[in-house]
Amino acid sequence: MPIAARWRLEPRRAACYADPVMFNPLRRGGRPPSTVADLRARLIAEVEAEVRETSRYLGKDALAPAVIAALARVPRHAFVPPEAEHLAYENAPLAIGHGQTISQPYIVAAMTDMLEPRPADAVLEIGTGSGYQAAVLAELVKQVYSIELAPELAAGAAERLARLGYRNVEVRQGDGALGWPEHAPFDGIMVTAAAPEVPEALLAQLKAGRRLVAPVGEPGEHQELMIVEKGPQGEVYQRVTLPVAFVPLRGGS
Ligand code: SAH
Repeated sequence: MPIAARWRLEPRRAACYADPVMFNPLRRGGRPPSTVADLRARLIAEVEAEVRETSRYLGKDALAPAVIAALARVPRHAFVPPEAEHLAYENAPLAIGHGQTISQPYIVAAMTDMLEPRPADAVLEIGTGSGYQAAVLAELVKQVYSIELAPELAAGAAERLARLGYRNVEVRQGDGALGWPEHAPFDGIMVTAAAPEVPEALLAQLKAGRRLVAPVGEPGEHQELMIVEKGPQGEVYQRVTLPVAFVPLRGGS
């Protein structure tokens, strides 16, 4: 399965260097010209630039400073396979095995911003994958619940998040389309796999006045990233934002 890439609206600017392996500060024994902190700072600058370039889709020129700060704190290299570590601070999606991907940092940041997370929130994520998005959310809210269909990925993400000290993330294996009724209702729900429609069970588990963010459209093609807001009476408002390309939401529901 090809690596899911953000739907390209414009040609991507050339990378800053030709051979990332040569400049890999994470490579054992190497003499790095730049540190992980430098790479993270560059990544943040690239994400901010891409936000500005896509402001007409996002409806804003800049993301919430707290979201950018959360992105800067999470060690993305701990969420990618060892052979991809040197690419961890590229603003690009990467393969994580089992035909799945860790999303592009710009998309993680944009989706996190769209959720409008607050410190006291309990949020639900569908599609734990590497656990990276869950970690970014965990920097911003009180509790993250995340569901992953693939048993190996669920176990891997749970172990990784625990090792990194994310005590406020609970991962379980299962079909995320059914939500996590035991912990509902949620202050926010983020779906990180594509489906033609937002699963009904998820909307039912969202608190009134809060948001669900999901890629909606046919898997395999590009989808629209949607913000679905539940009004005070339970009525639903939808807003289309970015064109995106996510791996499919699988399983029965
Ligand atoms: N949020 C992830 C990336 C998501 S990739 C990260 O930060 O790394 C999409 C993930 O959704 C994959 O890991 C895939 O296995 C999972 N998935 C697909 N269908 C699912 C379903 N019905 N329930 C839960 N997870 C699902």
